[in-house]
Amino acid sequence: MHKQPHPIETDAVIVGAGPVGLFQVFELGLLDIKVHVIDALPYAGGQCVELYPDKPIYDIPAVQVCTGAELTTRLLQQIAPFGAKFHYEQQVTEVEKQNDGRFFVRTSKGTSFLTKTIFIAAGVGAFLPRTLKVDGLEVFAGTQLFYRVRDPAEFNGKNLVIVGEDDTTLDRAIEFAEHGPHHAKSVTLIHRRDGFKAAPATVTKMRELCTAKQMEFIVGHVSGYEETGGRLSTILVTGVDGGIRTVALDALLVLLGLSPTLGPIAQWGLDMERKQLKVNTETFATSERGIFAVGDINTYPGKKKLILCGFHEATLAAFGAAAIVLPEKNIQLQYTTSSTQLHRLLGVGQNES
Ligand code: FAD
Repeated sequence: MHKQPHPIETDAVIVGAGPVGLFQVFELGLLDIKVHVIDALPYAGGQCVELYPDKPIYDIPAVQVCTGAELTTRLLQQIAPFGAKFHYEQQVTEVEKQNDGRFFVRTSKGTSFLTKTIFIAAGVGAFLPRTLKVDGLEVFAGTQLFYRVRDPAEFNGKNLVIVGEDDTTLDRAIEFAEHGPHHAKSVTLIHRRDGFKAAPATVTKMRELCTAKQMEFIVGHVSGYEETGGRLSTILVTGVDGGIRTVALDALLVLLGLSPTLGPIAQWGLDMERKQLKVNTETFATSERGIFAVGDINTYPGKKKLILCGFHEATLAAFGAAAIVLPEKNIQLQYTTSSTQLHRLLGVGQNES
């Protein structure tokens, strides 16, 4: 965890960079409120990118059809003028009210903030990688234990163990086993059973590489490890017959998918109903003044978990927050078509107001 001497002081922190968190940046931007956005994932888009990047969405107003990934790209383009700062790959773990009314927010990476308002746009929870349940193994996270491939070249020439069963896992195992640009010294694939949730052609390819001794597949689960001089040197694999094998390695790539975890949000003392945050529909404020909840994470009579509804919620939440962030300002509704003030904020042409 990196040490940060002082918390970042800001007007607003948005927890979650899903479609609703991104549109929240836009609505706050129009009110000239600067924000920091935090997400557990290494990229924006939430469910749209994590669960259905290539699927068509048909119910975004005035957009006949776009995929989850396209929607995210468009939202990122739309909010670009506001210069929001994004903090990826970190989960918001701590929220604490301060005596001056602000909130202290800390993430799993140790980034901290002092903010006047918080917008929880956490959807179905933080998308965190499924981990191996082996005591002590986590200390190697980021050095020898990885949950995603950021740069395939990292594994060149390494003795690599890969755990998982889906297309992503097998594609990676094949990529590192073949004599291509990213060739590991050895590849051992581990999965609990001799069956995969992957395309048949990919499974066939993997088995061919095993027959050709370019990689190995072991049926079993990682049950322990050994370290040498502070480095992860060996993992123990328990087979279906209970026998234990040792596999020497340089790197362990665990690709068991991501699972949404509501996690610490439930401990922030906010009124909840069935794991959702209760809000009033005038400003989408939670039970704590200064904390708003928008998108799939909130609940109220008539709630519909749709992107369109989240966009509306973000709009009213921004106006609700303005009363806290800019109490001296008399906020008037302005149209983006005609307001020179909004044009200045958006960095667009010189239209008359
Ligand atoms: P999410 O998209 O869930 O994003 C929340 C983000 O918050 C995530 O990235 C998560 O990692 C992050 N996060 C959560 N907790 C923390 C934390 N503590 N710290 C850091 N980060 C955190 N809706 C439609 O309107 N039309 C459709 O056609 C449609 N199709 C769908 C198809 C599928 C298969 C699915 C699963 C959903 C579909 N939806 C559709 C629903 C839509 O995707 C959701 O309503 C929308 O994604 C909600 O957006 P959100 O920003 O509230 O949350």
